[in-house]
Amino acid sequence: MSDNVNQPALKIVPLGGLHEIGKNTCVLEYDDEILLIDAGIGFPSDDMHGVNVVLPDMTYLRENRHKIKGMVVTHGHEDHIGGIPYHLKQFDIPVIYGPRLAMALLHNKLEEAALSDRTAIKSVLPRDTVRIGRSFFIEFIRNTHSIADSCCLAIHTPLGVVVHTGDFKIDHTPVDGEHFDLHRLAEHGTKGVLCLLSDSTNAEVPGHTPSEQSVRPNLDRIFATTNGRLLVTTFASSIHRVRILLELAAKHGRVVSVVGRSMLNTIAHARNLGYINCKDDLFVPFKGLNKYPDEKVLILTTGSQGEPLAALTRISRGEHQHIKIREGDTVVFSANPIPGNTIAVVNTIDRLMMQGANVLYGRHLGIHVSGHGSQEDHKLMLALVKPKFFVPVHGEHRMLVKHAAMARSVGIPQENMVVINNGDIVEVTADRIGIGGQVPSGIELVDRSGIVHKEVLRDRQQLAQDGTLVVAAVLDGAGKFLAPPQVSLHGVVTPIATSAIQSLVARTVTQLVDNRWSEFVRSSNRGANGIDWAGLRAELESSIQRLVRRELRSQPLVALALTAVGADAAIEAVNAVDAAANGNAKGKIAGDSTTGSSANGDTNGNGKSTGRRRRRSAAMAAS
Ligand SMILES: [Zn+2]
Ligand SMILES: [Zn+2]
Repeated sequence: MSDNVNQPALKIVPLGGLHEIGKNTCVLEYDDEILLIDAGIGFPSDDMHGVNVVLPDMTYLRENRHKIKGMVVTHGHEDHIGGIPYHLKQFDIPVIYGPRLAMALLHNKLEEAALSDRTAIKSVLPRDTVRIGRSFFIEFIRNTHSIADSCCLAIHTPLGVVVHTGDFKIDHTPVDGEHFDLHRLAEHGTKGVLCLLSDSTNAEVPGHTPSEQSVRPNLDRIFATTNGRLLVTTFASSIHRVRILLELAAKHGRVVSVVGRSMLNTIAHARNLGYINCKDDLFVPFKGLNKYPDEKVLILTTGSQGEPLAALTRISRGEHQHIKIREGDTVVFSANPIPGNTIAVVNTIDRLMMQGANVLYGRHLGIHVSGHGSQEDHKLMLALVKPKFFVPVHGEHRMLVKHAAMARSVGIPQENMVVINNGDIVEVTADRIGIGGQVPSGIELVDRSGIVHKEVLRDRQQLAQDGTLVVAAVLDGAGKFLAPPQVSLHGVVTPIATSAIQSLVARTVTQLVDNRWSEFVRSSNRGANGIDWAGLRAELESSIQRLVRRELRSQPLVALALTAVGADAAIEAVNAVDAAANGNAKGKIAGDSTTGSSANGDTNGNGKSTGRRRRRSAAMAAS
């Protein structure tokens, strides 16, 4: 793609963060060197049963691990650093540079995952510069955002300077007094910037995003007029908001109890680094709160998004060991629900109200403000940086499209920008920008045990949707059943009696074996004992699936556990689980068990059991 055959193009490959808010992960590649920018996580949707973390598809990085020279981090939000431990488990990142708070939070994460010896974590200050590989020379430029210590990046490459804004708003009165270094961005703009990658989160919002300080008078009024206990929830990482709340507590003579591990953690780091200044005696552990009158208490808690395990959610369910809501409590949501969390949040609000709390929430109260710039802020960024080429990032598709329109409105020609998706390879030369192909993109899911493969998730969704139907049968080497096939249903709604379905399925299995046994004895696929067990299993599965579809009008997960007792007393256990819905007769080994619970065998996430057969002793099978 390069116009100069001697000079390769600079490749920009976002693996996450586009067409979504979350899992921001970007690759910059020049020659044979890769620089990583951030590695975040996303959060699972409701149909991702049991999934804790969503990561981008990292195939490209696994395959090009030898090119990775290092990573730079813009700030400490989970959608920018949460994925780093999962990366380090799969490939080396020799060094990670980032602002102090982000590096402190990352250090914690790596300690917890026992990965802290896997990379070198290096804190930088604004305007610090670092070299990574031969091709990348990076300058950190302070910006303003909802977390302290957030940066834009000016990345010098052999083709020119790439500015990556990170997440930003333009806050002229920052709570910590650390101003956006707009001067430095403008200097780069004057010298010439090849390409700008800019945060698109609020590209649909007209005007300017108000300063974080704008919430202070409104929260102050609530403190001044509340008589009972005050519980306030916000994002744990919103250091500036937390600082305002702590300052108001001190002003109004309330002691503060912090509930929720992530909130405690970020406050500790922010105090260490000087982003929050308050006296030690402001804080009391929640077990000691009953020594104080209600009107002298502030409980600062996680759970602003209705997260199932967060402290406020547990409090709302009456499940928190030490904090119970009582008449006269006031609960303040100093955060708006992220799209997708609205139902969880309103349910939490309902439960709190039902227990007698006065709950304050909603945009009209002016107690939350976004950490991302709006349209006029974007225009200012574009005007200061004056990039030749532009790529909107960090946003859903419509936000990227709006952001591109804004770039056109300030004079960047259409042909100098691309609106892209995760996995697109943006190629930039001195003269042009374009999409030069794709790398694998999508998601990788993680639960408590490890990677959740696509088929596992599909099985879980099917189980949750339509339940499971389990068939267990034991056959001898002559095709005779040692006992009638056992059929059980779990979570299945049946239009006719369950017993009728059970007999129908059992009869189908018996008839198929009786009528067609000779075909499987003659089959060219027959195993050591002369019988094509795999073929028989596939036939049984598709027959059961057809029957189930016809009779139940639903698509439960069908688990077939077939145990074969050969004439030589060797046992071939053939367990299979498959979905009736897709008619896929390949089958997957479900585990050793011949019972319905075998369906769990494949949910360990390693996927290794797929298509595998096991031999077991006669004694084991008989037991
Ligand atoms: Zn972000
Ligand atoms: Zn952020």
